[in-house]
Amino acid sequence: MMRKENQILVDAVAAAVVSVGVFVTMVACTTGNDVLVVDDTSTVVSNVRVIQFSNDIPTIQLGKTIVIDEGRITAVRDQRSVSSKDAAKVIDGKGMTVIPGLSDMHVHIWDEAEFGSYLSYGITTVRNLSGMPFHIPLKKEIDSGERIAPRFLTTGPILNSTGPNAHINHQIVDTSAAATDAVRAQYETGFRDLKVYSNLTRDAYDAIKTDAALLGMTLSGHTPEGVRNEGIPNETPFNISFEDILDDDFVTIEHVESIVWHGLREHHDELAARALARKIARLDVAVTPTLVAHHNLLRTAREKDNFINRPGKELLNPFVLEAEQETISFWRSRPTEDLTTNDAFYKRVTEIFNEEGVTMVAGTDAGIFLNVPGKSLMDELKLLVEAGLSPYDALKTATYNPAKVLNEENERGQVAEGFVADLVFYECDPLSDISCVETPAGVMRRGNWFDQPALTAMREAAANPPYERTQTNVMAGLAAQGSVP
Ligand SMILES: [Zn+2]
Repeated sequence: MMRKENQILVDAVAAAVVSVGVFVTMVACTTGNDVLVVDDTSTVVSNVRVIQFSNDIPTIQLGKTIVIDEGRITAVRDQRSVSSKDAAKVIDGKGMTVIPGLSDMHVHIWDEAEFGSYLSYGITTVRNLSGMPFHIPLKKEIDSGERIAPRFLTTGPILNSTGPNAHINHQIVDTSAAATDAVRAQYETGFRDLKVYSNLTRDAYDAIKTDAALLGMTLSGHTPEGVRNEGIPNETPFNISFEDILDDDFVTIEHVESIVWHGLREHHDELAARALARKIARLDVAVTPTLVAHHNLLRTAREKDNFINRPGKELLNPFVLEAEQETISFWRSRPTEDLTTNDAFYKRVTEIFNEEGVTMVAGTDAGIFLNVPGKSLMDELKLLVEAGLSPYDALKTATYNPAKVLNEENERGQVAEGFVADLVFYECDPLSDISCVETPAGVMRRGNWFDQPALTAMREAAANPPYERTQTNVMAGLAAQGSVP
């Protein structure tokens, strides 16, 4: 089936016809003296269909041979112009589609065992948004290639002030002095990216911004709103307005749900959402919608134990699951009506953001609540499509956009010469059916190839992360941020 479609596209190109909405590029046929002879350290993927996400519409390249050496793509060429007889490894890409490895830009890693689940779903970059000291040596092991895992990015511990959204896992800073101390301590520990949260006071937030600029640290997170006690009417303006934050150079703003709260004061007003989207797009601030995080609350209330105990639960961290029991029972017994309304509005806002050109990156809040590592990104991509994004636009939020937002668009997020060989392969076409992403046929991480049996074994090994090691990780994290119970 796929071969037939490819053939049609190739014929179309031969006839100098570019099909509507799709660029098809082909390297010109090469002569015998322009053959690339692959050396014996290289891996080659032959005859594969490539999708690029760097334009507004898909660029599809057919019958390509990709050459990989030392973790990088060294060539993407027409099949006939490559001689791979000496290659260390040749992977037959016939019938397969390759895209850049996926990024989950909002996760919570509690233990190293969780990485395997992400990688088994084609996720080659994860960004952790609540750092703990154990993350720093782990990152070094991954960066050096000593440990096979997705590329690991992390912020420091969550910076928040006392307030209704404060959590035991937050580093609480109520004053500018406390904020300065915390930022400097995070820098000393090795963190270079900060995560800020909703309740930050004006003083604390201003100090964080100043110190971040001095130390060259980035900001991401929930937009700080200042002091706001529970029960204040929605009409009352926030201490710090959402618009105030928009030119503070955030790498990403998290959760459409939080934007509806802070930016729209919970009003389900599409015109206001569109006006806000235009401001966000104009100031070029990236948003991580995390639709799945709210959707899983709704599913807990609606499907109860069928959802709580669904397949994939074994990939959740048992230590965290135990700590979340109360939260899970709370959502399990919630009426579904408001949650259903909110869920629909968050999707609508995401669609409006997409229409207005807001740069969005895929994230999930995987690792907390019942959000399964790896699988949650598959669910997020499907929710983005349900929200009205094309599968192409949805996939772009997990491929090209993260590279762009992280200023890495020259070496990540494309299947092209010089780019890092973090790739995911499918036997289905993710552009025609987004659920294709759930079944990768192979994953390449820094040039290391994992076929389907290897991915299955990797996911099995990621089940039931060790309770005690997680407990040690978390307790050390709480102690470091001064919040031991
Ligand atoms: Zn989170």
